[in-house]
Amino acid sequence: MKKYNFNAGPSILPREVIENTAKQILDFNGSGLSLMEISHRAKDFQPVLDEAVALFKELLSIPEGYSVIFLGGGASLQFYQVPCNFLIKKAAYINTGTWANKALKEAKRIGEALEIASSADANFSYIPKGWTVPSDVDYLHITTNNTIYGTEWRKDPEVSVPLIGDMSSDIFSRSVDVAKYDCIYGGAQKNLAMAGVTFIIVKDDKLGRAPREIPTMLDYRTHVEKGSMFNTPPVVPIYSALETLRWIKRNGGVEAMDKLANERAELLYGEIDRNKLFRGTVKTEDRSRMNICFVMNDEYKELEKPFFEFATERGMVGIKGHRSVGGFRASCYNAQPVDGVRELVKAMKEFEAAH
Ligand SMILES: *Cc1c(COP(=O)(O)O)cnc(C)c1O
Repeated sequence: MKKYNFNAGPSILPREVIENTAKQILDFNGSGLSLMEISHRAKDFQPVLDEAVALFKELLSIPEGYSVIFLGGGASLQFYQVPCNFLIKKAAYINTGTWANKALKEAKRIGEALEIASSADANFSYIPKGWTVPSDVDYLHITTNNTIYGTEWRKDPEVSVPLIGDMSSDIFSRSVDVAKYDCIYGGAQKNLAMAGVTFIIVKDDKLGRAPREIPTMLDYRTHVEKGSMFNTPPVVPIYSALETLRWIKRNGGVEAMDKLANERAELLYGEIDRNKLFRGTVKTEDRSRMNICFVMNDEYKELEKPFFEFATERGMVGIKGHRSVGGFRASCYNAQPVDGVRELVKAMKEFEAAH
């Protein structure tokens, strides 16, 4: 049976990315060796890294003065590494749920980190508005897409301090004004690659200012200076990221990804709003296009499990909601075909008709 992959992460990747990576795992560039067996310093691997960096810069229109590095450790390590490198006196954080909160918690280990706004009062079902950032903070940290709760900053906020963004689950789904950011980071396993690599964009002239001794491996300068080759980088995950970057470019770049994200979101939210059985969990204007959360309306609560089974029988995978929201979550990352969403919508309509 055809499967429709709505997993939240690790998640769907373009079929071509998987096939091309598999080929290189069997025989890297005709060398007779596997991508898994070569040295990261082999002459054929450097071009992989270089092309991945170049495509990152091209696709996101990253201005001069920024570096792109690929490290291990996941976005979770960045929660600590970011303040370690960028927090000088104090930093501001907006708490939009689990990941944002974890970032804030790690920053507090480093120095003064202020929670200037939060949507905890309504189970993180909206993006806080009407806050102000103290002008003397080093940066404002935001989680641009909240994978668990299904909220998304559709635009980079207007602030007078540098931004730092966790873009783990929405990178390359919309254009970003990178110049507003000192750092953008994310685990690659949502919208970019197989698990195992973290992407980090840093503004070069902001490095080396923090008044603390930074362990070598946590100092961004170490990795910027060595082009992500200070130690062994995650070779296969980086290769898979390169394949996705090529796929994004072939398919029209970020602008095209943005359009597809709108198309998928309109289809699925349209059905959630129309269908008498379901309702969305997020304030309309803050709805994520990447992670679409919905629950059964109160009077149909007992149909939750039956719908889950109904959808599973039709090949839907990964639509169970995160335990902190319940119900359902359909993750619709860049690689999610619009047809996959159509199938889910069809299942919702059929289920409604049957009840
Ligand atoms: C998945 C996720 C993380 C955690 O990423 P790891 O690479 O597993 O550490 C952090 N932030 C966001 C927004 C995420 O979606």
